[in-house]
Amino acid sequence: MTGNNGHKSASRFDALIIGAGFAGLYQLHSLRDKLGLSSVVLEAGDGIGGTWYWNRYPGARCDSESHVYAYYFSDELLTEWEWTERYPAQPEIVRYLEFVANKLDLKRDIRLGTRVVSAHYLEDENRWIVTTEGGTRFEATYLIAATGCLSAANIPAIPGLESFDGEWYHTGQWPHEEVEFRGKAVGQIGTGSTGIQAAPVIAQTAKHLTVFQRTPNFSVPAHNRPLSADFKQYVRESRAEIRKLIRSTTNAHAFKISDRKVFDVSAQEREAIYEAAWEKGGLEFRACFQDLMIDKAANDTAADFLKNKIRKIVKDPETAATLTKIDHPYGTKRPPIDTDYFETFNRENVSLIDVRANPITRITPRGIETTDAAYEFDIIVFATGFDAITGPLLKMDIRGRDGLSIHKAWETGPWTYLGLQIPGFPNLFTITGPGSPSVLTNMPVAIEQHVDWITDCIADMRNNDLARIEPTAAAADAWGEYVNETASATLMPQAGHSWYHGANIPGKPLKFMPYVGGMAHYRTICDDAASRGYEGFTRQAR
Ligand code: NAP
Repeated sequence: MTGNNGHKSASRFDALIIGAGFAGLYQLHSLRDKLGLSSVVLEAGDGIGGTWYWNRYPGARCDSESHVYAYYFSDELLTEWEWTERYPAQPEIVRYLEFVANKLDLKRDIRLGTRVVSAHYLEDENRWIVTTEGGTRFEATYLIAATGCLSAANIPAIPGLESFDGEWYHTGQWPHEEVEFRGKAVGQIGTGSTGIQAAPVIAQTAKHLTVFQRTPNFSVPAHNRPLSADFKQYVRESRAEIRKLIRSTTNAHAFKISDRKVFDVSAQEREAIYEAAWEKGGLEFRACFQDLMIDKAANDTAADFLKNKIRKIVKDPETAATLTKIDHPYGTKRPPIDTDYFETFNRENVSLIDVRANPITRITPRGIETTDAAYEFDIIVFATGFDAITGPLLKMDIRGRDGLSIHKAWETGPWTYLGLQIPGFPNLFTITGPGSPSVLTNMPVAIEQHVDWITDCIADMRNNDLARIEPTAAAADAWGEYVNETASATLMPQAGHSWYHGANIPGKPLKFMPYVGGMAHYRTICDDAASRGYEGFTRQAR
């Protein structure tokens, strides 16, 4: 049976895509409109946007600059959309994705409120059987997980949470209704990129905000501002150059990492370079020198500069000391950027609690207890991050050939080839999966590269009458070793408690998950594998 969109039946498709964020939307467009495959997106949320649908906490804003936080595959989309601020706020990003979905007529093939709970591969039929929370069954030849890297919220198992009499929220599952902080005592746990964005905004209206900090963090000012008419014109006219640039840089941002090394310049010159980067603001700070991420002594100069900035901003010496007890090299945990984060601690209604010194022991009906004190709150905000990269995949019961579960396959950590496919799971593709640059980049660029690669791969299979593709175990082993060696050649492993390693989730196998070798180099590796007849993969006819 063939329906309006070429659907073979109500629930059988060529391709199923899980997730309607940046990745899922472009994947749907590519498979449906470029290849003509019957495709559908299954999305747990009641709206599109993925990460940006869920992360609507106060202050939520992207750290990539807006003009590069966009799809670059379509000149039409680029010319018709205009960002308003240097960094896009969450509502504007959702509006952008709505604009794209409407423009490309994607919504008719997106099933909202449809959470996938399992995906099982039937080898005899070469088909994935996908089941949703509501019990609906879908079938498809290709299954694409566009589930995002930061979508499985981590709510720490602190005893007593269920007894709390007030309201509590995780930033990654923020309610659609406005949360009223006015006149309320608020406790915020977590000082990662999210907490650093949320605290200054919550402090503006809360009666009192208490920030519980376990690991202090570096942060560079965002210097967000409305975009000028001149800049908007530059973006419109220079989109081809910008596209080329973001596809050629290490982190897929519109800036290159400098060639100079920290100790090639005098101390005075170095200070001036850091000062200029601080004044410019944003993630580009890490591009000041080429050796910041590989030479600890070089990194220390950036770390000292940033700690001195905190000491200058924060008036209370004890609070400044707690904020500067930073125990990881700069950039080895995801470096946040902020709007008045450190300034927030100069407010009368804000206090900082060091839970490294005095850990949280439990949550009571009235608030939070640490080893040395009890705090009363009306609202607790968990800015406690995510079960990152693998979490969204492991939340589903995914089973490949012979019933092999993804939990078993990834018992000792994620095992993929190129972060795109897993041995034993034919025709399953993971957009920005573990082992790809993903979270170390400006995500839309990494997403477009993966979607294009997957689309070309499926097109090639169909042109050659091939039914299934999966990587060899040897290719995945070698890739895993290479990803690990590449990370080990940097300072990254020195931040032992980072979510990049999975260290933020108790019991999660420790393995550095993203590929640090740079987006441009990674693109070449993927293209080379494809051009050598999908080297490292096994492809089979029916
Ligand atoms: P995160 O970086 O994992 O930070 C979570 C925070 O919660 C950390 O300070 C962590 O402390 C703390 N925490 C977790 N469990 C705790 C516990 N039981 N007790 C006390 N503290 C606890 O998560 P995130 O801030 O949500 O950021 C995750 C990633 O999302 C970012 O790194 C970034 O890639 C992305 N993000 C991007 C943007 C943006 O572009 N604007 C904004 C937000 C997030 P420890 O460090 O000690 O574990």
